[in-house]
Amino acid sequence: MIDYIIPVPTRSFLPVKNSQSVFPVRRVYCIGRNYAEHAREMGHDPDRDPPFFFQKNADNIVTNGSFKYPVKTQDVHHEIEMVVALKSGGKSIPVASATQHIFGYGIGFDMTRRDLQQNAKNLGRPWEIGKAFEQSAPCGKLVPIETTGIIDKGKISLKINNIIKQSADISQMIWSVPEMISILSDYFELAAGDVIMSGTPAGVDSVQIGDVMLGFIEGLGELKIVVD
Ligand code: MN
Repeated sequence: MIDYIIPVPTRSFLPVKNSQSVFPVRRVYCIGRNYAEHAREMGHDPDRDPPFFFQKNADNIVTNGSFKYPVKTQDVHHEIEMVVALKSGGKSIPVASATQHIFGYGIGFDMTRRDLQQNAKNLGRPWEIGKAFEQSAPCGKLVPIETTGIIDKGKISLKINNIIKQSADISQMIWSVPEMISILSDYFELAAGDVIMSGTPAGVDSVQIGDVMLGFIEGLGELKIVVD
């Protein structure tokens, strides 16, 4: 028994649909520019260069249906993403067997302090200040893959105050979920509890306090988050 000298920090978790049990989160990986139209709107060529990844902190996840508008920014963007939760991991996982590591899928928002991220990009600095802040990952319940089947296509959309802002199909990802798992596992040792945010379609835009964000992914349902 380890005697911790301060109280052990709370473990982040994601709720699981139709279950009393929750999914403990170890790491949160995010992929950048994984839909061609979104790459274009951010000023980049959507070619099939190797993907790049960044991370949020596990404790950036919030699951109470609200997103607290963050400090030190005037431009917070919504990015709806499909969340992929891993029940196992490893190194150098082949694409062909990557799906067997998936526990389930969910809906999440990669909330972004776009002004701070852009400034970091301009200065060649890391992205944490724009991406990995408090409550930057509002998420819904995970749905086990036994229930959903493999999700490699289907509508993904986001409405703000009932107006469609983002709308695409999961099949339009530049790098598929199995490819993402495989490539990530070449660089990091993946493990049970890891979560991947699989990129956002075009249409990212600012949110304001009072806005209602309504995400939808076919097979997973809706996720409503209020900006407060
Ligand atoms: Mn994103």
